[in-house]
Amino acid sequence: MALVNGSILAGLGVGLSAATGTVWRIAPQTSVPAKVKSTKGAQVEAEALKAAIAKVSAELDSLGQNSGATNAEILEALKFLLEDEELFEVSQAHLAEGWSAGAAFAMAVDEFAELLGNSSPTLAERAADLQDLSKRVQFNLSGIKDSLDLPAIGPLILVGEDFSPAETAQFTSAVVGVITTGGGPTSHASIICRSRGIPAVVSCAGAESLENGDLVLVDPVGNRVIVGADASLATPPMRFLAVSDELIIAVRCNIGTRLDAQAAAKTSGAGVGLFRTEMLYLNQQTKPSTQQQTATYIEVFEAAPAGPIVVRTLDSGRDKPVPFLTLAPAETQSHEAEGYRLLSEHRGFIKEQLESLEAARKETGREVWVMAPMIATVDEAADFCALARSIGKFKVGIMVETLSIAALIGQLKGIVDFVSIGTNDLSHYLLAADRINPTPGTSTSHWEPLLIRTLEQIATDGKAAQIEVGVCGESASDPVFAVVLAGLGVSSVSVSPSQVDLVRAALSSVDADQAKKIAKAALAATSPGAAEAAALGHLLSA
Ligand code: PEP
Ligand code: MG
Repeated sequence: MALVNGSILAGLGVGLSAATGTVWRIAPQTSVPAKVKSTKGAQVEAEALKAAIAKVSAELDSLGQNSGATNAEILEALKFLLEDEELFEVSQAHLAEGWSAGAAFAMAVDEFAELLGNSSPTLAERAADLQDLSKRVQFNLSGIKDSLDLPAIGPLILVGEDFSPAETAQFTSAVVGVITTGGGPTSHASIICRSRGIPAVVSCAGAESLENGDLVLVDPVGNRVIVGADASLATPPMRFLAVSDELIIAVRCNIGTRLDAQAAAKTSGAGVGLFRTEMLYLNQQTKPSTQQQTATYIEVFEAAPAGPIVVRTLDSGRDKPVPFLTLAPAETQSHEAEGYRLLSEHRGFIKEQLESLEAARKETGREVWVMAPMIATVDEAADFCALARSIGKFKVGIMVETLSIAALIGQLKGIVDFVSIGTNDLSHYLLAADRINPTPGTSTSHWEPLLIRTLEQIATDGKAAQIEVGVCGESASDPVFAVVLAGLGVSSVSVSPSQVDLVRAALSSVDADQAKKIAKAALAATSPGAAEAAALGHLLSA
């Protein structure tokens, strides 16, 4: 049934500006052709399969060239999955059984995807990417066209279940807004929309009822879509009145590449709070040498904004596979232990990474902190810290992303200098909410009372143990939440460069006592909505 003007659809907003436009629905892709036996023989089918893989791979390349750095990196990672030699070998085995190229490839992908899907929720996401690629190869073999076919003229608001990296890469300038029924605030579509400045509302359950041609307002700040409304109904982004030039806590930048470091240097961010080093190597099949790594880190350090640079050692094997380190799927049964297993199984590489970082630190004279991802136990933290201290003059710490280490902060006294809370993964575990593909109805809000209480406990335990506590997950990019974090006792936040000014403005509008009161109000709430409203209310009256 068509929605009447004024209907409000609730979801999760991505971005700070609103957009109005005409709904353009993207139907789920045509189902794939049935699996059939070959009439042409294994040799001919193998050639056809090779050609189809090469074509899809070239398509990913050209999509990557037009879609900005973040998407290009994701597409490169997909290309690596597609061109996997083992995948081709398994397909060939099915060709030898007499199957057609499309059927053989689909079967090989199913086998790989099953292994990945059974390993962990985030590897299940990679399995979905692989299935998307399998579809593209099969469409290519059967001559089925596989593109969004967007009209050149907008303004369009795309509505769909969720958008894969290959699909988001096809967004043209006619696309001014995005609405998805699935996805979450840290899913591919959200990351790309944030980086391209396209307002979006994700996890918007009622959006199935929107029809082509409906005029809608995408109002991310209001976490809603309004049918038939114009921009005058958009929730304005917050404006903050500075009470002081001094910020109550430091605001740093999240970066992954030299280009990000350059963008960060244009902001007023106080250094880098999270350098995701795996972003440099998502498409690298051979291990970079110590010299190559050192040269890259020097470039990044030289471009980065003034202040400390917090480097995270490679966080691979999860939703960001680094080809030369990725563990075999069968080995990745335990998601929580992956970060440390990466360290123990690739100790040689982590050692070389730390050596390269030390060489770059010496060369550039920058203040470098290093931290390990996905640490689950005090022993793992101690092991990493001892290794890092034996190699360089770093401040040494770990990320707090698992529930186990979140409960053991006090025991890290004297072991770590600092911890950085990764709220993306921490909420994933705490709320049993898949950060990439949340089940409808599961809350992925960083305003969840349980997350806020956990953050308070980590900050309090950190203070008692003389450990500096920062937050570098997406939650810190929400300016009101950043004030709550300051009030909970966190001493720095690290946010995407595009959010630095707004987060700084929010933090400069309160003093430390006011931030504590705001955090207390959020802590007392019993639902995400109430926590956000309480914090906002107290902030506005501060
Ligand atoms: C996090 O989990 O919050 C985090 C910052 O790490 P990533 O998003 O890279 O997993
Ligand atoms: Mg993480």
